Amino acid sequence: MKNEPAGIKPESWLVSAGRAPEPGAPLNVPLVPASNFILGSKRAYSRDDGTPTWEALEEVVGGLEGGKALAFASGMAAIAAVFDQLAAGTVVALPDDCYQGVAGLAAAGAEKGRWSVQRVAVDDTEGWIRACGVADLIWLESPSNPLLTVADLEAICAAPRKPGAILAVDNTFATPLNQQPLQFGATVSLQSATKFIGGHSDLLAGVATTKDEALWQALKKSRELTGATPGTLEAFLAVRGARTLAIRLERAQSTALKLAERLEKHQLVTCVRYPGLTSHPTHETAKRVLKGFGAIISFDLKGGAESADRACRNLKLIRHATSLGAVESTIERRAAIPGQGHLPPSLLRMSVGIEDADDLWNDLNAAINSAE
Ligand SMILES: *Cc1c(COP(=O)(O)O)cnc(C)c1O
Repeated sequence: MKNEPAGIKPESWLVSAGRAPEPGAPLNVPLVPASNFILGSKRAYSRDDGTPTWEALEEVVGGLEGGKALAFASGMAAIAAVFDQLAAGTVVALPDDCYQGVAGLAAAGAEKGRWSVQRVAVDDTEGWIRACGVADLIWLESPSNPLLTVADLEAICAAPRKPGAILAVDNTFATPLNQQPLQFGATVSLQSATKFIGGHSDLLAGVATTKDEALWQALKKSRELTGATPGTLEAFLAVRGARTLAIRLERAQSTALKLAERLEKHQLVTCVRYPGLTSHPTHETAKRVLKGFGAIISFDLKGGAESADRACRNLKLIRHATSLGAVESTIERRAAIPGQGHLPPSLLRMSVGIEDADDLWNDLNAAINSAE
């Protein structure tokens, strides 16, 4: 299995990786529904040894991230496999703003006495550098969900770490096209392939990528023993979705900037967060560590939570739905989600899709105006 795009750009790798080269082989990745294989080869049982379909997804994402990948049942399954590496009594450093599932997983383990959790502000680079010296798992998510704060991964990954510590980056919002944490020196990079990699809101999958062979083996063991294996159809669909990731992301992030600029001028909008805006508190860091500013924006409405809920109901083109990273634009009031008490009550998180930018703006503008 090749793990690095050799001499070609990531855009070309996304299209070409995972395909068999032999004459007569199917051009596309084979959809192999198999639990077991004829004994005597490298595979016996798929939960232990993988399948050709999972491996295609691993090759595609691993090559982009710049390491060796493992596919999982979901983003959370991949994340849980990393937490599964922690010994009793260890310390986890977690961002103050991050995916609520990760905060929930960390809190559940802390309650059972497995580890303790220290929260660090995403943009507190000095705080993260200090955490690197004491934590056994340094968990970063950047840009963060849903405040879109960008962490200085370059500086944090270069800081001295406690021996054996894992520095993990949830790279879902950036995708490996916009950010490659392993290149900065992170131990492992995580993708919820449910989001941008899949890109069509029709699957759950996750991928963990690392350059550390021992960690890769340990994550694979964890996948085997907890049964956190991806579905065959899901892995196939994730590869199919990944083929168009570059053009989807390019379109979506250019539209996201246009919408963010227009929202910033809207009288009923009090705050717009998008790393590509010069007004964004971590815009300078974003310019340095990200190759693109992404397709997620969040903004607050003057009229508060009730206006925000009304705006969501008034939309016609943009779907009122959770999740993100797909071809269709979706929007959601995040403080309505349990465990998100730190957020402004009216904060709307929008995942910008690939529709026409003016159509999206007209829909958004009309919904905000009629929700006042
Ligand atoms: C969705 C998401 C996850 C969890 O992924 P699942 O595939 O839903 O398990 C983790 N991190 C981030 C940033 C996400 O957006």
